[in-house]
Amino acid sequence: MPDSQPAPARHDKRSSRPPAALRDRGSVTTRRRRSDPLLNRVLVASTSIGRGVFARRRLSAGLVVGEICGRVLDSHPEDAQYCMELGSGRILEPAAPFRFLNHSCDPNCELFYWEDDPGQEDRLWLQTICPIDAGQELLIDYCWPADAAIPCRCGAVNCRGWVVDPEELHLVSKAAQ
Ligand SMILES: [Zn+2]
Repeated sequence: MPDSQPAPARHDKRSSRPPAALRDRGSVTTRRRRSDPLLNRVLVASTSIGRGVFARRRLSAGLVVGEICGRVLDSHPEDAQYCMELGSGRILEPAAPFRFLNHSCDPNCELFYWEDDPGQEDRLWLQTICPIDAGQELLIDYCWPADAAIPCRCGAVNCRGWVVDPEELHLVSKAAQ
């Protein structure tokens, strides 16, 4: 993620049901213990554009990698480059490791919250879309609003050319002409 990005990451993919892996676990604490499987799943390493989140081992499709923990704010802080919107409209400033998730127009992960559970809408989770090999970078689609879009160099075959919500791409294209 470039250092100058001013806008929040927006998530557009939602799952209305908890993934099967979590459904039976009951309440999930946000406190991290040494045995937290998250620490066995990902690591933060440097990329050509700063830091990124990488798979420590092979991750299967549909796996809940972990909860995005961090500070919940009522409005965007001055430096909002890492922020994510929560279901309630409040803002999450994520802590490591997910603070360092980078963007791709062809992501292998997505953020979600559970729409059918009001208590869960201020919690955000990361899950894989497809299998990810050990050493591969975990990437999400930031889906930024058009007024915050910046040129994208993610290198995906289907790169939109802008880090922007696909539904607002036409707004950016117009402005750039
Ligand atoms: Zn792109």
